[in-house]
Amino acid sequence: MADCSKKKVDKTAIFLVIGMLFLLLFVAVLLNMLKDIYNQQQELIDLQEQLMSSSGQTEVVAEPEASQPVALGNPVVEKEQIVAETELYTCVARREARCYSEPDTASALIKKYSSADKVEVISLEGNFYKVKADDYTLGYVEKRYLSQGGALVNVPNAVDLRAYLPNAEYEMLFASPYNITGHAMYPAVPILEESTAEMLMEAYEIFDRDGYIIKIYDAYRPKSAQIELWEIVRNSAYIANPNTGGSWHQRGRAVDMSLVNKETGEELEMPTPMHTFDPKAGRYKSSLWSAEAKANSDYMTEVMTSVGFKTITTEWWHFENTKSGNMLPNDIDLGSAEYR
Ligand SMILES: [Zn+2]
Repeated sequence: MADCSKKKVDKTAIFLVIGMLFLLLFVAVLLNMLKDIYNQQQELIDLQEQLMSSSGQTEVVAEPEASQPVALGNPVVEKEQIVAETELYTCVARREARCYSEPDTASALIKKYSSADKVEVISLEGNFYKVKADDYTLGYVEKRYLSQGGALVNVPNAVDLRAYLPNAEYEMLFASPYNITGHAMYPAVPILEESTAEMLMEAYEIFDRDGYIIKIYDAYRPKSAQIELWEIVRNSAYIANPNTGGSWHQRGRAVDMSLVNKETGEELEMPTPMHTFDPKAGRYKSSLWSAEAKANSDYMTEVMTSVGFKTITTEWWHFENTKSGNMLPNDIDLGSAEYR
């Protein structure tokens, strides 16, 4: 009997000890959780203090409830930071462009943009654009690989040529009173279809190496302007009939141009003044041109055709991209187009 009751006492003691151990373990776990919550609260308070001291704001940011995980550095917080950072705008990749983790080409490669890709830009930092590489990641792309703003963002495949050729000269005659109508027919915005702008960049680089820069007199020309010109000129040798298809200018695939000597800043001698709607402007009348004008026109033509442009017989200044591919709408309202 004695043995039996002793065993019972021993068992009770063992249960008590085990029970105490579980209780201690539970208290320890509880304390640890409370400590974590306290630490997270402290981190949040520190972060708020940092933000307030860096921005000079005195406004107190509402604290999240203690039960919510603060999880500093998780993707949700980073996403909010991207959106809050600043307004985004769109640039166009001028050629294949690498996107790095830091404003340094030796840092990690995040992604590659293809030529003509739209890139969401946050800000310009030295020689790098800070870009939104995806929903959660920021990256850096060298400035020279993206258009410098100026991309026409609300018309697909249209680019502002000034973003591609920032050092070219522009004198948009049909956007000034100095044309046959005597008034500006559309805003002075040199627009081209993207692949045509790329071709012109190739030509620009050749001219640049030879000591010349391109001077643009007309690029995209809305159909409404073509109709107005047609009503006055009524000669399809110079103004393509808008009622029977119009010209490549309406498709964003033609330029009227000349060349400027980089050293002197002077425009080269060409067969006639720009937009002289006269047979002397025609390539078939080159016997009437001066030797100098013919040499300059021949050189310009050789470079432009080497990158894929076609000429027309009636105008020395006109070059067009007749390859298959994207075309712009015939009548973009340039006044309502949005530029960044
Ligand atoms: Zn033309």
